[in-house]
Amino acid sequence: MMGMSLQSVFAPAAVLYQAGKPLVIEEVEVRPPQAGEVRVRMKAAGVCHSDLHVMTGDLRMPEPIILGHEGAGIVEDVGPGVTTVQPGDHVIPIWRASCGRCEYCMGGKPALCDMGTAMRFTGLMPDGETRFRNAKGDSIRHYAGVSTFASLSTMPEAAVVPIPKDFPFYKAALIGCGVITGVGAAVYAAQVKPGSTVAVWGCGGIGLNIIQGARRMGARRVIAVDTLAQKEAKARQLGATDFVDSSQTDAVEAVKALTDGKGADYTFEAIGLPKPIEQAFDATRKGGTCVIAGISRGDARAAINVNQLVYAEKTLKGTLYGSARPRVDLLNLIAMHEAGDLMLDELLTRTWPLTEINEAYDALKNGELARGLIVW
Ligand SMILES: [Zn+2]
Ligand SMILES: [Zn+2]
Repeated sequence: MMGMSLQSVFAPAAVLYQAGKPLVIEEVEVRPPQAGEVRVRMKAAGVCHSDLHVMTGDLRMPEPIILGHEGAGIVEDVGPGVTTVQPGDHVIPIWRASCGRCEYCMGGKPALCDMGTAMRFTGLMPDGETRFRNAKGDSIRHYAGVSTFASLSTMPEAAVVPIPKDFPFYKAALIGCGVITGVGAAVYAAQVKPGSTVAVWGCGGIGLNIIQGARRMGARRVIAVDTLAQKEAKARQLGATDFVDSSQTDAVEAVKALTDGKGADYTFEAIGLPKPIEQAFDATRKGGTCVIAGISRGDARAAINVNQLVYAEKTLKGTLYGSARPRVDLLNLIAMHEAGDLMLDELLTRTWPLTEINEAYDALKNGELARGLIVW
């Protein structure tokens, strides 16, 4: 009802109190949306490495914090001034909200928006406050502005994209991070050309989507590289033409052998470790492009042969959020899936309830998942 003031609601969430310790499942107070904010009832949330980096302390965030940056849910209520969604709308939270007005947003790079970047690194809403409290009344930070490991989460209107109501939540949650990041790395960041050769380091949630994105762009050869032989079947299902087990063989030599000794036109790193980044760069052919999509430790460095940058005219670039425009491209990806041009079900390995989220992350750490989801 208009004029009725919105109340706090209590709902279960997974809270990180200290890096290196398990998440604590507890009821938290979810404060009502303020001006320009919405409160979303979560239906699915992705089990992604980016959260794991914060859990282990590889990437530091203020604690306590509710992690989770991938998901899908239903808008439950809206604060004053919200115009683009209403209660009942189905949405994908976007983990880098964009203001729509800054030089990055205007330049077609909304993932670099200063507003979204500030929320990611402070864990605060744009007004500098949080909307979560624990039973003791302590403030709990937001992760990436969306905190999808809360059953109910208050977030900026700028951090949700409305989607068709007949599109399943589990598929929407998959599209919201791994798919747009991986497919986007191939389509928007590298702009893979038809007939080209591609090599992808890492066959997890991002790498598998780089593979399917590269095939969609018409790459004739897509070489999947991973240290776990068990990843081969899934990589081939998503479109890899070759698989290199880099625990058994020199990945750079193997990729060269599969590309007439030249190296691949495009190489991708989807792990976030110095060694595979260096290998991907070394396996890039003359004039080729090496794209880094993996999230590394905050202090990670890689050794690049800078002479090759010049003499071989290699391009080295990073990509965040698939260099996509989530507000537009998430809907494009949904349409691609509905046209039969994008695999989603094939990516989902397992689901867990929120109460078993620590087990879900154990499975991720053990390399058991293409993608896992928490579902409500
Ligand atoms: Zn993610
Ligand atoms: Zn912006």
